[in-house]
Parts: sequence; structure tokens; C-alpha cells
Amino acid sequence: MTQLFDAVAQGGVTSRQAILARMAEAGIGPDDHRIAGTCRKLDALGDAAIDRAGFAELIGDELLTVSRIFRRQLIIPDWQDFCHAIRGIYDEVAPDRSGANADYIPILRDADPEKWGVSICSIDGQRFSCGDVDIYHSIQSVSKPLTYSFALLREGEEFTSRFVGTEPSGRPFNALDLLPDMRPFNPCVNAGAIMTAGIVASGSPEKSAREVTYDIMAMWSGLSGGIAEVRFSEETMLSERSTAHNNYAISYLLQGRKGLPRDVDLHKMLEVYLSCCSIEMTCEMLSVAAATLANGGVCPLTGEQVLPTELVKKTLAVMQFAGMYDNAGVFTLQVGLPAKSGVAGAILVVVPNLMGFATFSPRLDSYGNSVRGVAFCRKLVERFTFHVYDSLSGGRTGCKLDPRESQHNRKQRDLSDLKWALAHGDRSARKVHDLLLETMIDICIADGDVEDDELDIIANTLDTIIGSRIAPAQLRVLSEARLAQGSAPFDGLLALLGRECPTLDDNVRGLLLEAAFRVSCADGEIEPEEYARLAGIAGALGVHKGILDIQVDRFRRGATL
Ligand code: GLU
Repeated sequence: MTQLFDAVAQGGVTSRQAILARMAEAGIGPDDHRIAGTCRKLDALGDAAIDRAGFAELIGDELLTVSRIFRRQLIIPDWQDFCHAIRGIYDEVAPDRSGANADYIPILRDADPEKWGVSICSIDGQRFSCGDVDIYHSIQSVSKPLTYSFALLREGEEFTSRFVGTEPSGRPFNALDLLPDMRPFNPCVNAGAIMTAGIVASGSPEKSAREVTYDIMAMWSGLSGGIAEVRFSEETMLSERSTAHNNYAISYLLQGRKGLPRDVDLHKMLEVYLSCCSIEMTCEMLSVAAATLANGGVCPLTGEQVLPTELVKKTLAVMQFAGMYDNAGVFTLQVGLPAKSGVAGAILVVVPNLMGFATFSPRLDSYGNSVRGVAFCRKLVERFTFHVYDSLSGGRTGCKLDPRESQHNRKQRDLSDLKWALAHGDRSARKVHDLLLETMIDICIADGDVEDDELDIIANTLDTIIGSRIAPAQLRVLSEARLAQGSAPFDGLLALLGRECPTLDDNVRGLLLEAAFRVSCADGEIEPEEYARLAGIAGALGVHKGILDIQVDRFRRGATL
């Protein structure tokens, strides 16, 4: 309790503002249900100063959660760093104006194509947004996998699977093709989504299509933690209805071939399908819904189990193979995350057990996926270990970053192991030590002279990272001897690192880059020339430049390594 108080106190007191600021820094807003009691008491206190006893009384009931927030023990502990990286990728993608709005209905054709938003929400309820994240837009096909979840929930897996398949279609989303047994391929193509709407509609014969849609909207509201109202766009619905010729054709085909579930009325079925496309939400709401899926169906903001975990697993699997229209295969290869896009320009993406996010930008590529949204996903996965198969890398993801707390702890443990092994004469620890030393010395002498502050950094880095003590004076002797050997030491270093790279795991490669980085910015700046050298080292170690840029950005913000 004392430690927690000290984290927010100054001169023996703290304030509502200081406490909320500390929470915001960790990504937690005052609307988080786990600290609802604390926030209620804080509101009642207003601007009054809070002493130690008052503080204890304030957070006493929610001590565990507050402690996790204050001590940065949430799933993404360095939340501010992570948000900076997200912002960086958001900015990189923003200038892309390729693609075009969907134009089959006026409301989508006339939407502002410049809009661009990204929202993220971790499974611990940490939230961050950039850009146009509070604009309501129709969710369109993003509705499809969740209507499927709803069908599984209400009508059961056996009944649902009698009418809709779970195979990738390899056909356009609006094709009239069916599986050999006459079922639609999956719930994400129109035929499957229309059939799924039929399954749901058939289970509530007493309800109108609109009432059934309201039930589905209630599920969306639970998924998005009630942070804003789930709306319905009458305008979208009218347009959808008047342009639904192909969807009518599909509906009649379904009725003619397989037959409809419980002989549900075809018009009611189609009405439910089109209504689901006309549900309106914001990017921010979709990110919370994605986080709920990432969290196995439990909304991180409310703690409510909105969907059973078993159903979420099935929904994510369907999204993985069919969520991105005809590009789902390539998307799985490149991004490796379950996602669903819609023609209004939204993409909902799930990083299981970590976070959900959503992007919104109306210009679409030839597959119907948001251009900026897909670009964002690719760049994110180039930098972070979010691809579903990054986990099998055996420590060789190309030094992608992993923002999880567990990873943080693992790195610390690996470092202490390294120190311990070096102290006991382990051969591979010795090799890491020598490579670190060589890298730092070669960086130090790359500009043709040996400066004291660089030597200090080398000495400190070796000491803190690996527990090996070498005096700066001795480092000077080593560096000058190396300098005297002449002949482009930096090129020699790159060749050495390139040779060793296949034998080094991510941790060691990360350490080498970090050490080089520390020496390069010994004078407190990263000059273009120094950046070029770092990029050379990153290249030799097989590290994506975007990962280096995240480190550079951290350094410029004064973060400690
Ligand atoms: N509402 C569109 C249709 O049924 C599909 C929307 C989408 O693919 O996002 O044709």
C-alpha cells in the first residue's frame, strides 16, 4: 500500500488527478468496471487532497487491480511505448490514398474517403485510439462471423452446421456457388451469412426481422462493453434492400437446393441479413468487441462473459480462413490473425490472448478490404510477434517485439541467466560477450576516433547487460588497437554479424542491436550517419527496420533501455 501511495503522492498527499493520470498512463480509463468503486469514491472526493489513510480507504476494495495498474503488471506493461509504435504505424499508413469507396449504395459511395482511424483494446482493458475512431458507419460484413456466433449460441452447433459449412470458398463473396451437399461454404460469404441469418430468424418465429436484429445488436453491445450505443442505419437498410437482387438470387437458390431452416420465410431471412449489414458502430466500439473475442468471450471492460469461449474459438477459426474476402489466404500468410472486413471500410482484428483492434478507412482494394486497414495489419505484424505462427519460431522471429508482460519477465530472466552463465565460464555466454564487445568497439571507432563517453557506455552496457567489468582505460587500449588494424572495421563487423546471425536467437540479436544503439547515441543524438550504421547492423542481424525505428523513437522520447 505504501509503495502504491508513493507512486502517486507528492509531499505526503495525492489527488484524484494524479491517480487518474497514473491509470491513464497504463491505458486504463475511469470507465473500467474493475475499478468502478475506486472511481466512484474519487468522483465524490473531487479535488480534495488525499492522504495515506484516505488512499488506503479509497482503493482498499480494489487493491489487487489498482496494484496491477500502478505497478505496470497489465498484459502490455509498457503501454505508452506500445501506443507510440501504433501511432507511428498509423502515420506511416495515412498517406496511402489508393483504392476506392464501395459505390453500390449512396451512403458508402459518399462517405468521406479521407477518414482514417485505428483503435486498440488489450484483454486487460487498456485502450488507445488514433484518428477517426468515433464515426458511426455500417458494419456490413463485419457482422457475419458474429451472426454465426449468435446462431451457434441460440441454435447449437449441430443445427447450425446442418445448414452452413465451414470451408474456405475460394470464390467471390457474393457467388452463387455451394458445397456439393448444397450448403453454403461458410458463414462469411453472402450465401453463408444469409443462411446463418435464416437459422437465427427461424429460432424466433414470434419475432419480426427487426426484433431478431435487435437481439443481435444487444450481443454487439455486450461485446463492445457498452462504451457507446449500437445503432441501426435506416438509410443503409433502404439502400441495401433496393439493391439486393443478387442476395435475393442467393436466397432463392438456398431455398431451392438445401431448403431453409425450419422453413423460415425467405423474406424474413434476407431482411435479418441486410439488417445486420446496416448495424452501425464506431471503430472504437469494434476494437472492444475484438478484445472481447481475444479474451475468449469475456469483455475486458465489463467482465461479462458475452459468448462462451468454445464458440469464440469456432468464430475465430472461421474468420481466420474466410474473413478477408478472396484475399483471406494471403492475409493469413502475411498477417496470420483472425480478422473480418466490411465494405464500409472497417476491419476487426483479433490477437488472441492479447488484444483486439479495429481500423476504419473507406477506400477498398480490389478484394473489398480497406487498403489502409490491411497495410496497418501488415506493418504491425512486421514489428510485433502477433502472427499466429510467430510462436513457433524457436526464438527466431527476426527480433520482432513482444509487448506482453510475460515476455518482459522472460527477457529479464534470460539476462540473469546469461550473467550467471558467463560468470561460470559457459562457452556460448562467452561468445555473446565477445560479440557484444566487438560490436560496440567497431561502432565506437567507425568514425575514426575513440571518445571517452563512448567508452563509458561500452563499460556500462557490458556491466549491466552481462555483468562483465572492463575498465574504460582498458577498453581504450582495445579500441585503439582495433583502429590501428585499419581497413573498414564496420564492414568487417557487418560480415561477422551476418555470419553469426543464423546461430543467434532473438534475444542475443536484440542485445547486439541494443548495445550498438547505446554506443551510437553516446552523445545524446542519433545522427543520420549513426542511423545508417544501425540500419546496417539491423540488416546483418535480420531485424526489420521498423523495429529499429521503434527503438529510435523510444530513445528520442528519453526512455531507458
Ligand atoms: N451488404 C453487402 C451485400 O450483401 C455486403 C457487405 C460487405 O461485403 O461488407 O452485398
